[in-house]
Amino acid sequence: MATAPAPAGGPSPNEQPKPLATPVDFAFPFEPYSIQRDFMHRLYETIEQGGLGIFESPTGTGKSLSLLCGALRWLRDHEQRMHDHLQEQLQSPDRRPDTAKAGPSTNSGQPSWITTQAQKSRRLEALQDEIERQERLQTKQSRLERLRAKSAQQRLERSASREAPHTSSGRIDPLAGLDHLSKPALPVEVDECWLGDYESEDEGFDSQTQDEHSDNAEAHATKLGDLSRINEKCMDMQKDQREARQDPDADEAPMDKRAKAPAPGCPMLAAPSMKSLPDRALLQPLDVEELAAMASREKACAYYAARKAVAPAELVVVPYNMLLHKSTRLASGLQLTNNVVIIDEAHNLMDTIANIHSVTVTGDILLGAHRDLLEYCQRYKARLKAKNLMYVKQLLFTLKRWLMAVKKADGLESQTDSERLQPVNEFLFATETDHVNLFKLLTFCERSEISRKLLGFAERRARQAGQVCGSETGSKHLSPLRVVETLFQALSNSNRDGRVLVKQAHSGLKQSFIRFLLLNPAVYFEEILQSARAVIVAGGTMSPVTDFVEQLTTQATKSVAVHHFACGHVVPSSHLCPIVLTQTSNRQPLRLTFSTRQSEAMMRELGESLIRVAATVPAGLVVFFPSYEYEQKLVEFWTRQGVLRKFERHKPIFREPRAGKDVDVVLQQYATAIQKGGAALFSVVGGKLSEGINFKDDLGRCVVMVGMPYPNLHSKELQEKMAFLRSQPASGSVDKGQEYYENLCLKAVNQSIGRAIRHRGDFAAVIMLDERYATPRVRNKLPGWMMSNLKVTPTVAQLEDHLKEFFIRMQE
Ligand code: SF4
Repeated sequence: MATAPAPAGGPSPNEQPKPLATPVDFAFPFEPYSIQRDFMHRLYETIEQGGLGIFESPTGTGKSLSLLCGALRWLRDHEQRMHDHLQEQLQSPDRRPDTAKAGPSTNSGQPSWITTQAQKSRRLEALQDEIERQERLQTKQSRLERLRAKSAQQRLERSASREAPHTSSGRIDPLAGLDHLSKPALPVEVDECWLGDYESEDEGFDSQTQDEHSDNAEAHATKLGDLSRINEKCMDMQKDQREARQDPDADEAPMDKRAKAPAPGCPMLAAPSMKSLPDRALLQPLDVEELAAMASREKACAYYAARKAVAPAELVVVPYNMLLHKSTRLASGLQLTNNVVIIDEAHNLMDTIANIHSVTVTGDILLGAHRDLLEYCQRYKARLKAKNLMYVKQLLFTLKRWLMAVKKADGLESQTDSERLQPVNEFLFATETDHVNLFKLLTFCERSEISRKLLGFAERRARQAGQVCGSETGSKHLSPLRVVETLFQALSNSNRDGRVLVKQAHSGLKQSFIRFLLLNPAVYFEEILQSARAVIVAGGTMSPVTDFVEQLTTQATKSVAVHHFACGHVVPSSHLCPIVLTQTSNRQPLRLTFSTRQSEAMMRELGESLIRVAATVPAGLVVFFPSYEYEQKLVEFWTRQGVLRKFERHKPIFREPRAGKDVDVVLQQYATAIQKGGAALFSVVGGKLSEGINFKDDLGRCVVMVGMPYPNLHSKELQEKMAFLRSQPASGSVDKGQEYYENLCLKAVNQSIGRAIRHRGDFAAVIMLDERYATPRVRNKLPGWMMSNLKVTPTVAQLEDHLKEFFIRMQE
């Protein structure tokens, strides 16, 4: 199955395959709710029409399954359409395009018979391409079917031999008992991004959806997992192989000599089973551990098998960075042209793109790269070609200048840190490296594989000195120069799209750095949007949608069709009780700005309100604070004032730990305390519990937002991003910088408050302690399904009444 590109000068409109009509049945594994059906309908239409689709469906509504079923149904229909279209064309090969009926000459001044002939020849070429593609697909389909049948037969035989371990000949079956190896030893990671590669017949999806989808008629799917994890495991093996080679200088030989030496091959790659392993990887759902176990049994390479399986796979599931980072994408063999890209859990997509492409190089990495390269150059100087030596010297010069930029000058002022944020060109001028051609340096590094050679060189030096290699980068597989190469790449960006932050830390080079910050994620999304047939970004909280359109499109992709779909929750609105408290007990506005929330009166006020909420709410109460610092400050103040003691008469308190490793323990204790009668969990917006953790049922009968978690406006990075957005062409009188700032806050709020309602039978109250939540501007940016039932109340007594009435009703 494929979405073949239209050939150059493609068929005339009357030769295009017919548009698909949206189907009624999506092979959903059970009767879908109306919002799920609507979701799949709109998804189908969006993929059919192409463009950018922004899909919003609250968590717990079966969004991922709807994405999968809707997309796969379109794929099946599309393939059928292409097949039918081909048959039609084959049956009337001499059918002439309408344009043949045009007059004696065309607009180009050519006689009409020439134009007609050219069109006919293009059409035949397109037809021939399509015939070949269909034949390839059919061959592949038959091969996979044969393999499936064979594999099913082998499974049958194995299970029969397990029941009777001794064969009729009395010998033990050597395969008996091996099946346990195919069970994943570790929990499977839930991948974050789907790339639909519509070139073949098997499909893959994340493990969560895999379970949900097991009843589906189309469930013979394949999970490829994260290729980079296989590759990481193999780095050790490659290193061992290097070390086992007889030529100890192999990795440190200069690029001129190295280019002539034949590279020894990996025996795993030469294994006979490598021919069929990619196909067998597509026969049944496999996660990365299962594929690795399968390859290891056959002494074959799981990494290259998975890479080869990517091309014929129908649906490939990859983590964000593998899709969004161009060189990683290309290295993994992922092709986007005419494919459908679906990005699930995309609420942080812009930040993710920015983070993936932002680069930090610390002072000690610069120092390590300079040291390795200098020693390498000194040792092999006489053997390097003049051109290579010139590039090595340019590298050394650039590293030295950048090192000087992060190094704190000795003196009185050296007791403080200093930071400088500047445009890329300004940074290059300031470090006197503006005349260095970073593109050429990067090309030299890639062509000569200098960073890999330096790694081998440094390893030998470290071994001789009895030291450990890789202390600067934190990985023994990564040379410092390789990290600097990523900075070269980032700085080759347009001057407008990023900024360079230089930090000189008084504590030393380890804390000093040069950081490239990407301000404009759209430049990296542009190619995805232009290549793919359709790009779907989906999430539970995508409001405000304008952000996605503004920040993901460039001038070149502004005209792309944007489809927006937002649906309600499967949970009836009566299961939700959102309340905004607008006043303090002395009738003052409850507005927790950075300064007002620091006052003791306000902190006491908050403590008293929370005690009354804790006394009213059953089971689990989750309280979100705007920052770890403020939570700490409140806890200390409340402890001194005896507020916590009163609070704990109603519910014991658990606090979100700052170390990720402690989260599970705290959550377990919190859950156990709820079973014993109830508990409260103090969390932080944007912390470890505000995303990815479900507070369903009794774990979260009430979520409280204390104030509005606006980010720190004094952050240089935030200021620069806001200034960048303000510099973009305006649409109306909207201050894009301010809009971005508010959206950051409200997206974080939406994520946090969405933790409580997780399934159709769930119910919860959401309390927002700040009058700003009641303003139309903020309300419009909160999830529509939540706001339909909003209650705005000035007093805690009224708030209590609403809570009591709600929980009594729900318990009835
Ligand atoms: S070929 Fe495969 S098994 Fe061999 S080193 Fe490379 S990734 Fe590892």
